[in-house]
Amino acid sequence: MANKNPPAPPTHRPPEVAQTLLALLHAQGEVARLSEREQLFSSLLDSVNAVLWAFDWESRQVLYVSPAFERIFGRPVSLVLADYNEWRDSIYPDDLEYAEHSMAQVLVKGAVEDREYRIINAQGEVRWLSDKCFINQQREGEDRVIIVGIAEDITDKKQLEGELQRLATTDVLTQSSNRRHFFECAQQAFDTAREDGSALAFLLLDIDDFKLINDSYGHQEGDQVLQRIADSGKAVLRRGDQFGRIGGEEFAAVFPGCTAEVAEQIAERLQREIQRLSFTHGQQAYGVTVSQGLTGLTAADDSLDSLFARADAAMYQAKRQGKNQIVRG
Ligand code: GH3
Ligand code: MG
Ligand code: MG
Repeated sequence: MANKNPPAPPTHRPPEVAQTLLALLHAQGEVARLSEREQLFSSLLDSVNAVLWAFDWESRQVLYVSPAFERIFGRPVSLVLADYNEWRDSIYPDDLEYAEHSMAQVLVKGAVEDREYRIINAQGEVRWLSDKCFINQQREGEDRVIIVGIAEDITDKKQLEGELQRLATTDVLTQSSNRRHFFECAQQAFDTAREDGSALAFLLLDIDDFKLINDSYGHQEGDQVLQRIADSGKAVLRRGDQFGRIGGEEFAAVFPGCTAEVAEQIAERLQREIQRLSFTHGQQAYGVTVSQGLTGLTAADDSLDSLFARADAAMYQAKRQGKNQIVRG
């Protein structure tokens, strides 16, 4: 007799083989996804101009550095993984103490985000790094301290900062300090002299009849005179002296550690140097002279302004007395 009962419907649970197969496919997909992610991470890490790193504090072992290490330090990753000194020895000698001290601070603070120091890479180039570091979350029961960090190459930014700083402090025409920067430096020199009880001299220099040069030979010619006077100033002054253009055809100098007597010798040298300069405009040869007012710091001077006022008065006296001379106030 035929069995009237219909056959049992197939279960939807796949047999074991199929299950294994599915798991395998799933795993393969997962592997593919993971490797895709790994590739993504690795290309991300490669494209940022920063080294991500992990460091075991106790054993002083570099646990990880991202590929940018090779580009910035110019050394193979494998070397720094084998020996932390590959990193340490690259640090610019003057910055080493700071770099080490600031990293140790992370143990107290948990994060140090304002570390900047220089390295010398394998090609001998000096590079600036901003190397932030953080204590890694410690797992329970684990007492080893892992520090993680991100060391970004900020050399270009530093160069730009330096260039901006130069532009902000320099007079474009004469490449000497501009008025603001000169007075900032002069103020510092004044404060130091007051603290140390040391000598300080202040000088003002104004070109004689400069308007006549402009009127006779043109503004451009006047500009060249300004440049050459500034060059003479820079040549005669000693390292540590401050020199700047504080007005149209007015220059000033500060001589730290210098009495008015010694500064006067320097002023005389500058006076002679400028008298010796020879200018030509077409067939016309001409020279220039300057008037200088000079003064030394006294116990009664309670501000830079009082020195400045005295030098200014001395300079105007030099003008009144016939120009082309130095007057001490
Ligand atoms: P004194 O001997 O009394 O100092 O007379 P002076 O002609 O030098 O002084 P005055 O103050 O009458 O003229 C200064 C001139 O400097 C006027 C101004 O046009 C000129 N000057 C200011 N800045 C510049 C500059 O950057 N370039 C040039 N070429 N001239 C300038
Ligand atoms: Mg003037
Ligand atoms: Mg003048």
